[in-house]
Amino acid sequence: MAAPKMRKFDIIIIGGGAAGLIAALQAKYEAPHLSVAVLEKEARPGRKLLATGNGRCNIANRRAAREHYFNAAGDNPAFVQAALKAYPVADNLAFFRDMGLLTKEEADGKMYPLGDQAAAVLDTLRLHIAAKQVALITETEVLGINRQLQIHTNNGDFAAGAVILALGGVASPKLSTSGNFAEMLKPLGHRTTPLHPALCQIKTESPLPKALQGIKFVGRAEIRQQNRLLGAEEGEILFAAYGVSGPPILQLSRLAAADYPNPPSIPQEIRLDMLPNMTEEEIAAELRRRQKLPLTLEDYLTGMLNKRLGQQMIKLATPRKLSEPAESLTADEIKRLAHLLKCLSLPISGVTGWQQAQVMAGGLELKGFTAQNLASRLVPGLFAAGEVLDICGACGGYNLTWAWSSGRLAAHSAVNLLQKGR
Ligand SMILES: Cc1cc2nc3c(=O)[nH]c(=O)nc-3n(C[C@H](O)[C@H](O)[C@H](O)COP(=O)(O)OP(=O)(O)OC[C@H]3O[C@@H](n4cnc5c(N)ncnc54)[C@H](O)[C@@H]3O)c2cc1C
Repeated sequence: MAAPKMRKFDIIIIGGGAAGLIAALQAKYEAPHLSVAVLEKEARPGRKLLATGNGRCNIANRRAAREHYFNAAGDNPAFVQAALKAYPVADNLAFFRDMGLLTKEEADGKMYPLGDQAAAVLDTLRLHIAAKQVALITETEVLGINRQLQIHTNNGDFAAGAVILALGGVASPKLSTSGNFAEMLKPLGHRTTPLHPALCQIKTESPLPKALQGIKFVGRAEIRQQNRLLGAEEGEILFAAYGVSGPPILQLSRLAAADYPNPPSIPQEIRLDMLPNMTEEEIAAELRRRQKLPLTLEDYLTGMLNKRLGQQMIKLATPRKLSEPAESLTADEIKRLAHLLKCLSLPISGVTGWQQAQVMAGGLELKGFTAQNLASRLVPGLFAAGEVLDICGACGGYNLTWAWSSGRLAAHSAVNLLQKGR
């Protein structure tokens, strides 16, 4: 029997997520004559996009810059700069606008589709993928790739003049890569840094968050390791049965995930400041002033802090009953309470993990790729974009920003390479 024919395309993109779909469009806009295929293991492309921004898709962040990105080697990798400069946020939003998707800006530079629907982002990409005659080949899982850019899948073999790796990460496994990219790319010499869940919740063994479950406050969270400050963020913090959540916690979670799935090997704590706009002395002065009001301890902090949160803090600061008058508190108890409101310490027992994580920290080692064109330094004609690279963005639209900018740069570079070769 004759061997099945190898299907050939000028450019093959592995992975039909945010980075892969935009890369396909960029390639077609630049070079309509080139044949472009997207190989996607799922029956439908871009499923993760539907879950982004709680179904609203925080499509980009206007403020995106190097300082919003991290990698295994440390914070703020210079690697992201070339893609963000070549395809800045305004240009990516114009690219979407030209396809019919309008956006709006909310707090802190966060951009959303005007209709508040993540599905609109995916529909826009899909409609134009079809119109531009990109071959979208679904239910096709890439199992291997060689130096000649021949691709082996569960749905036959393919060959291309240029290949873009856009397989994403392993966060939220139901919506993500099969996780085989490290093994798949090792024979080509590309190495992967350790992978950790990021943008997830932080767990503690302390019973306190469970008692406060559902309560939110706007404050500051710090992660400390043996008193050394590892990171701090401000914003809305939420108590949950397992620990703490909310944007500042998600942001800090990668710092608590280095030993995942184990707890941090060097003990870490999260410190919560519930009144970041007041110093401990100012809080103590206010507490002394309130002692003169006709209040029992039950309502002593009402008007300053969430009532239930306030009552729990009082219970931690003193063994007194909540029915006792506020004026009965001693100077030491006032001092203890003021300190607790500024610095509630919870020992960290880990993070909630891959199921809840929005992104993967770690990925393909950056030293294997050139930042200026996202080309592999090891395999001519191979490029990478999006989360599969060792780039992790902060919460707030920065990860999709990276997917759009890097996807477009990788496609531009692939087109350039093929056009030079013609
Ligand atoms: C719940 C949730 C909410 C989020 N919200 C936001 C947000 O609001 N704003 C923001 O900026 N970021 C958000 N993110 C992060 C953002 O979605 C990702 O960083 C981004 O989608 C990464 O794009 P990508 O194309 O690199 O990877 P992905 O979107 O993961 O796409 C990779 C694609 O490759 C396919 N694939 C994998 N392996 C193979 C294989 N071997 N063969 C063929 N196909 C394969 C996958 O099926 C997938 O379709 C969120 C993530 C999650 C999970």
